[in-house]
Amino acid sequence: MSIPTLFEESVSGRQGVTLPSPEGVWDLSQYVPKSMQRKTAARLPELSQLEIMRHFVKLSQLNHAIDTGFYPLGSCTMKYNPKICDWVGQLTGFTQLHPETPDAFSQGTLALLYRLQQYLKDITGFDAVTLQPAAGAHGELVGMMMVKAYHLKNNDLARNEVLIPDSAHGTNPASAAMCGFKIIEIPSGKDGLVDLEVLKKYLSSKTAGIMLTNPNTLGLFEKDILEITRLVHEVGGLCYYDGANLNAIMGITQIATMGFDVMHINTHKTFATPHGGGGPGSGPVLVNRKLEPFLPVPIIESQDNQYCLTWDRPDTIGKVKLFQGNVEILLRAYAYIECFGLEGLKEVSETAVMNANYLKESLKLYYHVAFPQTCMHEFILTSQNQHARNDQINTMTLAKRLMDYGFHPPTVYFPLIVPEAMMIEPTETESKQTLDTFVEAMKQIDAETQTQPETVIQAPHTTPVKRVDEVLAARSPDLNFYKTFAANKEATENISRTNACFEGSRPCP
Ligand SMILES: *Cc1c(COP(=O)(O)O)cnc(C)c1O
Repeated sequence: MSIPTLFEESVSGRQGVTLPSPEGVWDLSQYVPKSMQRKTAARLPELSQLEIMRHFVKLSQLNHAIDTGFYPLGSCTMKYNPKICDWVGQLTGFTQLHPETPDAFSQGTLALLYRLQQYLKDITGFDAVTLQPAAGAHGELVGMMMVKAYHLKNNDLARNEVLIPDSAHGTNPASAAMCGFKIIEIPSGKDGLVDLEVLKKYLSSKTAGIMLTNPNTLGLFEKDILEITRLVHEVGGLCYYDGANLNAIMGITQIATMGFDVMHINTHKTFATPHGGGGPGSGPVLVNRKLEPFLPVPIIESQDNQYCLTWDRPDTIGKVKLFQGNVEILLRAYAYIECFGLEGLKEVSETAVMNANYLKESLKLYYHVAFPQTCMHEFILTSQNQHARNDQINTMTLAKRLMDYGFHPPTVYFPLIVPEAMMIEPTETESKQTLDTFVEAMKQIDAETQTQPETVIQAPHTTPVKRVDEVLAARSPDLNFYKTFAANKEATENISRTNACFEGSRPCP
């Protein structure tokens, strides 16, 4: 299906809205210098309101969305987020509040943010929190800036190495490097976990800290986690916890009790903001007493039943985001936690882990499982068995074929340490029926690789756009709509190709 562009649908003189005539109401020519005034009318598409609406609704239907189907994108926690959270985030009392409103007149918003802080501390066991960071990666940066400030404060200037397992998300080394640290990559053991003997070799008086994801990005719980944090502390380093996978352990254990000093939470993975599409997120950072003095300002505090922003913190790393961060996203997180309660969050995690293990056990009959042990909220398959049958079949072809069955493919080719990885995270929100339908589709695709391999190799067949050039779309996105349209006959194709890349085939991590 191809949808004509607005320019193709345009009919001269057609209008969707009626605006008052500018003359007399506000005659802009009075205010805009002559040299800056338009000489010719802007070339805009002309359509009726109904046509415009149909155009955009049709475009939206080209997207795969969590509201229309299963989205098992590992390491991203693409869970269904209750609509009540959207409603809370969009209450006009919050959205219409000017961000410069004095504390005395923004008590409602401050109260909810303060309560969210308390909840996040309860869930993780940390002492203090900042809600400012805009996403997980930003949280990592803020956390590592505090780690750096801590060592500087202690005059521990030689500590410039940050240890990061090779399974980590690319943002970890990027964040540490932006703080000026040298990245030391620790190879994972055969079981996908940090090998204590290997870790010991890299620890020294230069160790500023470690950044660890747990459960790690292979979907495995780091069983030696207490020993890892003990060893790092023993040499004087600090421990950073990448909390992107919090969905697996909420309410079951607290991160601070595992010995960590600082962590971030991706509210857009764990707490009710649709993730993906590049929308706003938020990445609250939690710290223990060691790092509390370095938190960004302002801090939301409560004094005599009043909430206020306090700025007086001599060791702060400064301000890291405008105002209080992405408040709407924080309000959604608040609503989500309030809906479930701490007991409910535990059930969320238990169900997420159970669903992942159910899928893993069902799919291992057909696909190679990278790490066979019990997994946490996600697990990794590879296309090894299918590739052995036909060398034109790989993870990308299987992912494309899944789209024909109405599923969003899992995360592919990540983590980098597993060749041909397919990383599947069902989340707690999918029913057994949905999981069974997914298993059935994967089983049929496996059968197709034997009976009709060409169908798999040529996939997808049912999507509006076939194979896209993802590299081209990422490297030189074609965003100038009119120029592209006018430039040549192929323009429309270019646009839909670029759109398609933005509409879901872009790899998530
Ligand atoms: C998503 C993710 C990040 C980065 O978080 P963003 O909110 O996307 O910036 C970091 N680490 C892991 C393990 C992740 O899955």
